[in-house]
Amino acid sequence: MAPEPLHITSPRAALNPAADPFDSGFLQALVGGEVRLSPKQALALHREMPLIELGRWADARCRALHGDSIRTYVIDRNINYTNVCTAKCTFCAFRRDEEDDDAYVLEQSEIHAKIRELVDIGGTQILMQGGMHPGLPLDWYEDLLGSIRQAFPDLHIHAFSPPEMVEFVHFFNPPGESFEAKVRWVLTRLQQWGLHSLPGGGGEIFADAVRRKIGLGKCDAESWLTVMRVAHELGMNTSATMMFGHIEGIADRIHHMDLVRTWQDRSIDDFSTNGGGRYMAFISWPFQRENTPLGRAKHWGDGPGDDLSQPFPGDVVATLDGTGSKGDHPEFGRRVRMAGASEYLRTQAISRLYLDNIWSIGASWVTMGPHIGQVALAFGASDMGSVMMEENVVSAAGTTYCLSEEVICHLIRDAGFLPAQRDNAYDLLRVHDAPTSPDLAVDDWSKLRTSKLHVQRAAAAPAPGATVELGWEQAQEGCKGP
Ligand code: SF4
Repeated sequence: MAPEPLHITSPRAALNPAADPFDSGFLQALVGGEVRLSPKQALALHREMPLIELGRWADARCRALHGDSIRTYVIDRNINYTNVCTAKCTFCAFRRDEEDDDAYVLEQSEIHAKIRELVDIGGTQILMQGGMHPGLPLDWYEDLLGSIRQAFPDLHIHAFSPPEMVEFVHFFNPPGESFEAKVRWVLTRLQQWGLHSLPGGGGEIFADAVRRKIGLGKCDAESWLTVMRVAHELGMNTSATMMFGHIEGIADRIHHMDLVRTWQDRSIDDFSTNGGGRYMAFISWPFQRENTPLGRAKHWGDGPGDDLSQPFPGDVVATLDGTGSKGDHPEFGRRVRMAGASEYLRTQAISRLYLDNIWSIGASWVTMGPHIGQVALAFGASDMGSVMMEENVVSAAGTTYCLSEEVICHLIRDAGFLPAQRDNAYDLLRVHDAPTSPDLAVDDWSKLRTSKLHVQRAAAAPAPGATVELGWEQAQEGCKGP
């Protein structure tokens, strides 16, 4: 199938900020793509609309874009080429310092072996991200990309999230008068060596007050968004992510989505007529706390003096324009408000309704579990994400869910849809409507339930010729959080 170049081609809808967002006529227009949510309207829906009703509207919007039958997944492999990282994100259980005993950098041969295993089972892309390793030169990345392209010419290389790109600029000191020019220089080089698209890791929450608290040593929102804009200019597609359910307020989530929508508009306006790329997907997930410094913060309500009749500190600080200040509440950053299943579904539903210029909303079952992921298909998600053979970052923070292709197809079908494997551009590769479909051909499900997570360890690299026990995992985009 020839790629549909824009995926969402209708003229941009207008805002109607004076409209009542709970009015059914307004919501029908929203579903039809005739009007946009304003930040205030989105905040009101997030706070006040009953969950199931919100899900119904998000589902209607999803069906208007994607139809009633097919929901997708991709087969790829998350390769974390190093766990050495200059940043110290407080939500991260994955990073190591260079001198730590379990710090690692994968050899090219190890990466190739992983890709071979992926290709052998029908995988089409790798999602390759690392920590931000100050000791790896540009040559290392170029050699790696070139070797992959030579050995696996049909493989899609989805790699290096914006925080890595920002650090590449610091590490490599490329020519250029501005940050944007330097990013363009690095990205152009990597693209020439085989890089196809950028994952949206490291988005977290864009608001400065939150970002400074949780993303120590990681780029700010402006830099993150600029990297993606340059990627779009160079014709690369990207994705956007959000990690919520920690110290942020609800308005921070809306502000985050608003920045994604605004910068997507700009990329479409500026680059879509000359082969430019864009954000193809938005994936959001709740923070996983195990083994992380941020996870040691108390729940709001558990700390001395916490008064649950008062607003959560993050909500006091959060503003819809992202200008909130940490000084606005003494406990800001010291209390977390974890997101459970209903909060996850609510946030995802808002993202479907808000991001009218983004094609796909990904279900985030790796953190919530496969059955919540399945329900997410009724809350605006059109894609079940990746059937993956490896995931290291989420598992480091305690997540252990893993799914095979058979199970992911079963979950999609069981939710009432036809499963279809897609590629990175969201074009359909195989629609599973025959008895030979991965799930329909299974006669013994017990074998598929024993899959385990595989966690990368330097010492665990298989000896040449050794049998590798494969775990099937799914993870969200980005080492920066899941
Ligand atoms: S989340 Fe990514 S950027 Fe942040 S410390 Fe961990 S590995 Fe480094």
